[in-house]
Amino acid sequence: MEVMKAAVFEREGSFVLKDVPVPQIEAEDQVIVEVEACSICGTDVHITATPPGYIATPGTTLGHEFCGHIIAKGAAVKHLNIGDRVVANPNNYCGNCVYCRKNLPNECEHIEALGIDYDGAFAKYCRINSKVAYKISEDVPAEVAACVEPLACAVNGLNKINIKPSDSAVVIGCGPIGMLIGMLLKASGASKIYMLETVDYRIDFVKKLGIATRVINPIKEDAKAIILEETGIGADFVLDVTGSQAVPSIDFTRKGGTVVLFGVNKRARAELAQCEITTKEISVLGTWLANATFPKAVSIVEQKAIDVGALVTDVMPLDLIHEGLEKLAKGQAVKVIITP
Ligand SMILES: [Zn+2]
Ligand SMILES: [Zn+2]
Repeated sequence: MEVMKAAVFEREGSFVLKDVPVPQIEAEDQVIVEVEACSICGTDVHITATPPGYIATPGTTLGHEFCGHIIAKGAAVKHLNIGDRVVANPNNYCGNCVYCRKNLPNECEHIEALGIDYDGAFAKYCRINSKVAYKISEDVPAEVAACVEPLACAVNGLNKINIKPSDSAVVIGCGPIGMLIGMLLKASGASKIYMLETVDYRIDFVKKLGIATRVINPIKEDAKAIILEETGIGADFVLDVTGSQAVPSIDFTRKGGTVVLFGVNKRARAELAQCEITTKEISVLGTWLANATFPKAVSIVEQKAIDVGALVTDVMPLDLIHEGLEKLAKGQAVKVIITP
């Protein structure tokens, strides 16, 4: 049996590099991808932390933000060929449940996450269902193609609102998703973009990106006063990427404005004055994973509409994955790309 090196989550606190069998086609709608690059996600940091902040299935190879070339395919796969370069939606959906039939595959009742529920892409090869694979041009650098998945999630959130030139927006949380959202807001014509962050490394990084009108540290500055003063009435849109800032989000929003809640923090509980939403006529929207936004995300990186590559701080081989995870956990990197 042929083996390959893979980064496997064994159990709480144990994440190891070890030899595992090379995946084979097991169903006629699958493809095998030779992985070119796989990005470490904040979720991977949560899974490998002690205690874990996110639960993965023990024995699973991690890694869900990747690109690569198809080297084998099942008999039923007609829309992809051997040699095609692809990215993948890691959240494989069933296509048959009540939500899939409502065109909400991101809410599928049988959703399975690559690199969390089944073997992912921190390995030389990875097996996926062909329906979640999307072709991408050879011209896109591998480290950028590996970021299409988080970009597709960011696009899904922005699809829920209608940004127009001259609009103002606040982004709370400048991790990779927050920065991608900032870039998309700018590309969509928002003229005032306020980015909130408390970690110095990220504050400096987002300032250098040049997408923010102003970067605010809400621990050191009065974010609400600044936003009110600079916009006059509050922001048109507020996007919380932390998963815990619903209350300040509502505070920062103008009457008739919109709050989008992106981030996931399962422990967060908000005590909010409901009448503020009512009397200010604020729309509060949730957004989850990616829904039909992979083609858009692929197009954005192929057209270079935003500079996704600017977020890549490290590229390292699989052998150094522990180092990459540690850098991210310590807040000393933005996007770390592993090249198996
Ligand atoms: Zn991710
Ligand atoms: Zn389904």
